[in-house]
This record gives sequence, structure tokens and C-alpha cells, in this order.
Amino acid sequence: MRIALLLCIYLALTLLPVLLAAAQDAPRRAWLDELSSGMAMAGFAILLAEFALSGRWRALSRGIGMDLTMRFHQWMALAALGFLIAHPILYTDYGWRPGPGGSGGAKLTPAGTVTGALAWLLLVMLVFFAWARRQLPWSYEAWRLSHGLGALLVAALGAHHALDTGHYSQQPWLRAFWLAAAALALLTLVRVYLVKPLLQGRWRVAAVTSEAERQWRVVLEPADARGFTFAAGQFAWLKLHRALGRITEHPFSIASAPGQLPLLQFLIKEAGDFTGAIGRVPTGSRAYIDGPYGDFTLVGRAGKGVMLIAGGIGIAPLLSLARDLSATSDARPLKIVYADKSEAQLAARGELESIARGAPGRELHLVLGAHLDQERLRKLLPPADADQWLYFVCGPPAMIDAVELSLARLGVPLKQIVSERFVYDTGIATPRERLTRAVIGAVVLAQALAVIAFVLR
Ligand SMILES: Cc1cc2nc3c(=O)[nH]c(=O)nc-3n(C[C@H](O)[C@H](O)[C@H](O)COP(=O)(O)OP(=O)(O)OC[C@H]3O[C@@H](n4cnc5c(N)ncnc54)[C@H](O)[C@@H]3O)c2cc1C
Repeated sequence: MRIALLLCIYLALTLLPVLLAAAQDAPRRAWLDELSSGMAMAGFAILLAEFALSGRWRALSRGIGMDLTMRFHQWMALAALGFLIAHPILYTDYGWRPGPGGSGGAKLTPAGTVTGALAWLLLVMLVFFAWARRQLPWSYEAWRLSHGLGALLVAALGAHHALDTGHYSQQPWLRAFWLAAAALALLTLVRVYLVKPLLQGRWRVAAVTSEAERQWRVVLEPADARGFTFAAGQFAWLKLHRALGRITEHPFSIASAPGQLPLLQFLIKEAGDFTGAIGRVPTGSRAYIDGPYGDFTLVGRAGKGVMLIAGGIGIAPLLSLARDLSATSDARPLKIVYADKSEAQLAARGELESIARGAPGRELHLVLGAHLDQERLRKLLPPADADQWLYFVCGPPAMIDAVELSLARLGVPLKQIVSERFVYDTGIATPRERLTRAVIGAVVLAQALAVIAFVLR
């Protein structure tokens, strides 16, 4: 219900400019000109909403998960690109002249031409660089900075273009909408990069110890941070040394249980420049936490038993859940399945074994150097009521895809499977992926139909 409501609000907001334009008594133009305007208004509204989607608003990602929210952000960027790429091409006439458009064509002003063309080119580059990010010779941080600043520039140039030359955007309500939406987009960035860092409490690195091959256990204690709470399975953005002026913050699942507060523990695997240097972070270093985020939790979910399925460093949030279930003496049966390449890679093995021994009905299954394929999973599933258990899955994207697909084929309904992706890329067509694509397809179709209705009105 919540997701349906959020989607309705999203559709209403991204289509509001088209509705405001349709309500105007403006002179009608050739249908291609009307289509061009409709696509521009829908595309630009989608683009401005992208800031909110990537802006760490808990109200948006709650019940959905940050990974799916970001997937929505990625697909909607493509939709915005599609609408906006077509916009300048469709016009029947560009009739350059001072002032906004009259009865036909675009009627561009010199300034509006420049801002429109720049916004258009920059948007194409922005989406292309996001799509080809891994192939670029840039660090993730450099890409992220360029993406944020580039998006802001596109929004500012686009807003100027709409207000300066928009055929329908001269109406006060529509002008107010563009100004408010652009201001909100800017505020979202200011909130994430300025306000949040300023308000963050300080933490201190209490210990960094080697946990397993290329994996580190990092423990934080509050310096002046107060009142931090989280649900087992959530994650936080971790920043070291400086709160402001440092863009190197990285998301990590909290591996400790809420009951272990005020200490926070992370399991971090070496993957690049930041994580590769984590083992050398001195004890006593300053740290900053933005969080908690994420929906990989037991909150609001019911199951007769709980199965935690981890691949590699995906054990981090599952360790938090296992610790929490153990600490709260949850009476439900618990199965922990932990797959990795070799014994040397296993983290927290002793603790997982002791959790499994701690109560009847708890089991730990280690899967070493083998795939967690459907046959193996089938043997691990509970013999009865498997479709009423909860399954938490975290690990490499291909492993999550395979496990989700296997569980679905073994009769587990989608709502009983919760997964957390450390990488937001599109996976294979698992039932969740198919549902995600169907929902996104329906949203884009509704937007396209609204534009067509605007042209035909
Ligand atoms: C919700 C979530 C929870 C995670 N939990 C853990 C965990 O508990 N333990 C663990 O070892 N890893 C975890 N990760 C992965 C971890 O964030 C990356 O491995 C880390 O950021 C890599 O940084 P780097 O500079 O070492 O490597 P880089 O080479 O800079 O990055 C490698 C890849 O990591 C991703 N990445 C890097 N920086 C960021 C960022 N700021 N925001 C989002 N993605 C980024 C990108 O896909 C990038 O291509 C999690 C990721 C997410 C999204």
C-alpha cells in the first residue's frame, strides 16, 4: 500500500507540469510542437525528482530498500533522457526571437537557446558516464562528485531554459512549480553534503582488527555522538577523519546488534582505495556516521522461521541479524547459510557457531568453494512451512540473483525474501527484478500516456 501510494505521489508530481499546462488557455500549435513541450515538461520534472530519489530520504526508501530506490533512480534517468532527447528534435520551427513562444514552434531566445543546448548536452553526458562508470578511468569519488555537480548544473540550466522560453512555463503556477522543484533539488544536495555532515556526531575508531583474508573488523565508539539507534541489518555511510570537505564516505552494513550500542561494529572487505587502506586506520581516528538506512531488517516482517543466506562479505548485515535474534532470545528456528571461497575467508565463524549452539532449532551451514545452487538450497530449506519462513539474502549480485531465483522455484513467495545489494546494477530476471521492471515500465507508460493525452486534448 505504501509503495503504491509513493508511486501515485511520484506520478502526480512528475505530471503536475503537464496538467498545469493543459489547464492553460494557451494558443494551440502543431501537434509535434505540443508533443515536444509535453515531453520536455514530463522529462524535466522526472529529472528534478531524481535528486529526491538519490537524496537519502528515509521516507522514500523505507519499505523499499536503498538498492531498489537507486534502481528506480537509474531507470527514471533513462526515461528523463528519452523525453528530453526528443524535445528539441520534434519542434517544427525554432523561430529565434526575443521573448517566449507565440503560436507556433519553439520561439527561442538567445539565452534560452544556450541554456537549453547546454543542459541537453550535459544530460546526455551525465547519463552516459553513469552507465559507463566502471569503464571510466576515474575513482568512484571523482565520478560521484562529477555526477552531483553535473546534475545540479543540468537542473539550473534546464530551469533557466524552461522559465525563459517555455511555451507553457510563463504561467505563474508553472513558474512557481519549476522554481520550487529546482530549489528542492538544490536543498537535497545541501542537506546530504552540508547539513548532515554538520549535524553528525563524532565517533572514534576503537579498534581495527584483521577478521579474515582481506577483511577487517572496525569498531567505533561514540566521541560526542548521542542517541544513535538502528535496527539489525541496517547500514550507514562511514566517513573517516573529517566531516566536511571530504567526499569519501562509503556505505557499510552495521555488523553489530542494536544491543551492543554504544559500540558499532563493521566488517569491511578490501575492494578498492578506501577499503584497501582500512587496515591501516589508526585507533583513535575520528569517524562520522550518516545513518541508519536500509530495509534489510526484521521490522514489520513475519515468518515462522528465519533463514540467513550470506555470500562473502554479505555476512555483515546477516551477522547483525543473527546477533540480534540471539540476544533477544527469539524462539523461532534459525538457519544460517554462509558461502565463501575458502575457510580463510570466513568472518566471525566462532561467534556464528556459538549462536547456532545457543538454542535448539538453530543451525549453521558453511558452503565452501561451491555454488549455492538450487539443489543445495533445496536440501537446506526447512522440511515444512518453507514458504512461511523469512529469507534474508546478501552477497555478490550474481549470488543474490541465483538464490532469489532458486527460492522462487522452490515455492517461496517473493514477499518472504528480503535481499540487500551492495552494488545497484541490474541483475538477471529474478521474480523481484521482473516485478521491479514491470512497475518502472508502468510508471513510464503512465507518463508517456499523459503526454499523449496532453497533445490530443
Ligand atoms: C548498502 C550497502 C552496504 C554495504 N555493506 C558493506 C559491508 O558491510 N562490508 C563491506 O566490505 N562492503 C560493504 N558495501 C560495499 C562497500 O560500500 C564498497 O565495497 C566500498 O564503498 C568500496 O569503496 P573503495 O573506495 O574501497 O572501492 P572503490 O573502488 O572506490 O569502489 C568499488 C565499488 O564500490 C561501490 N562504492 C564505492 N564507494 C561507494 C559509495 N560511496 N557509495 C556507494 N557505493 C560505493 C561502487 O560500486 C564502486 O564501483 C556495502 C555497500 C552498500 C551499497
